[in-house]
Amino acid sequence: MAWVRVRMPVMQAFTGAETGVVFPNHCLYCTEAADASTPVTVSASKSVGRRKYTQTLKLTIPYCRKHQGLDKRIRHLKSGVLVLGLVLTAVPIFVLMFQSSSNPWGKILTILFEAFLGGVVVGVLLLCLLNLIAMIFFQPWRDCPFGLRYGSLGFIPALDMGPGKRRDMTHLVLKFSNPDYADAFVQANPGALKPR
Ligand SMILES: [Zn+2]
Repeated sequence: MAWVRVRMPVMQAFTGAETGVVFPNHCLYCTEAADASTPVTVSASKSVGRRKYTQTLKLTIPYCRKHQGLDKRIRHLKSGVLVLGLVLTAVPIFVLMFQSSSNPWGKILTILFEAFLGGVVVGVLLLCLLNLIAMIFFQPWRDCPFGLRYGSLGFIPALDMGPGKRRDMTHLVLKFSNPDYADAFVQANPGALKPR
């Protein structure tokens, strides 16, 4: 399945949970009746001169129970693998460096930092490996954002804040795995359109 892109302007007044974005009330992944939902946050920032502008939107994605559960399980698996890789690497590095150092308490911050860094590298590598393997065998995994990016099952949002000083040029750029849902979304939101 190819992702369908939808682009819509974001009103400046919209912040946080007050997005004004309407999600048609059926499962975003299978279009069955929606009886559950999942919060998804999307944010972006840009620097203009010395000022930094950040914008964050909280979206509520409707799902059927089945796909809400699936989205949650995939999310937990990803963060689980990341944490497992981090801990299983950082602890041995810490112990080894601590034991082999002549003045371990004097260098404790350096040792902690390097152990953590090593753990993060291995955790992220493991997560990428899990993603690549799962994407080969499991369609819903291909319909998820890679790694720990913004989004959820069948849905990848991004904010495009536009160039320059103007702050009213922000667009929400959404990707849907279900083309029927993308059509329903465009109908429910004036200003939303599918770019060629
Ligand atoms: Zn569903």
